[in-house]
Amino acid sequence: MSEFDLIEQLFQGHHRDAQLGVGDDAALLSITADTTLAISTDTLVDGVHFPSDMSARAIGHRILAVNLSDMAAMGAKPRWFTLALTMPEHDVEWARELTDGLLQLAERYEVGLIGGDTTRGPLSLTVTILGETQLALSRQGAKPGDRIWIGGNPGDAAGGLELWSQRQQRDQVVETLIRRFEFPDPQVALGQRLVGMATAAIDVSDGLIADLRHVCQSSGCGAEINLDELPLSASLLSQFSEAQARTLALGGGDDYLLLFTAPPQHRFEDCFSIGVMTDTSDIQVLDSGQPLDLEISGYEHF
Ligand code: ADP
Ligand code: MG
Repeated sequence: MSEFDLIEQLFQGHHRDAQLGVGDDAALLSITADTTLAISTDTLVDGVHFPSDMSARAIGHRILAVNLSDMAAMGAKPRWFTLALTMPEHDVEWARELTDGLLQLAERYEVGLIGGDTTRGPLSLTVTILGETQLALSRQGAKPGDRIWIGGNPGDAAGGLELWSQRQQRDQVVETLIRRFEFPDPQVALGQRLVGMATAAIDVSDGLIADLRHVCQSSGCGAEINLDELPLSASLLSQFSEAQARTLALGGGDDYLLLFTAPPQHRFEDCFSIGVMTDTSDIQVLDSGQPLDLEISGYEHF
């Protein structure tokens, strides 16, 4: 059973009176007539979500960034979070560096640390984040004919991870890509701007195609992606062939860019239109108009 079948079969459908439960980037709870609370949880495990030799500062940044990104995907304003930290030993210096990375990002987004848990065991971190929204975005509202947009250059973080072993070489471009993996920049402001314009949104954590598939399934549509429109960064193309860069952009996760859909009349500054939603139930990738037979699955834990 895949990770997502497991979630669908075991955990979906028990949300009682929550406005939105399992299956989106965050759950939504109506608190007052015009305030909705968005809540989401994400975990990072040593050796699974980040290399064991990644700095404590980057781990601290990353655990909050991936959670802020889920708030961005809902168009919510992040407000507070809790941190559950499990670490193998009592290393104050390491923990201080982790907290520096975490709190610097918390300061930038004005989110408050309101609780958590500290335990001994294999290194893993869990953040639960709470945000506010009025009209939220979800994965559900895409319609055939809507354009598909991406909020930046996909593939850079996955490229950075591929180049991890070269990080001591102090090559500027390699460092730029590795930083995209270590210090993702969640698109919180963009998410809030999209409310009322985007019909569906998700953040790219597992891979562009894998996350687009979640939008397709939730919205009951298919999609067509034009390879020629994929905005591959010059940094990525300087380190990888075009074919490799495309594979990283479509299949690699970790970019934490927003992927969203909107009716064709809308334009979004600094974002790139890469395809269109269709009335089929599958995803086609087109190269100069020709359908490609691609096996791109994205990241799954099981
Ligand atoms: P994201 O990548 O946006 O963090 P996930 O792929 O981790 O989302 O999870 C997909 C959906 O399944 C989310 O709505 C999440 O809340 C839900 N989910 C995942 N694991 C569990 C679980 N163990 N119990 C209940 N819901 C879960
Ligand atoms: Mg998400």
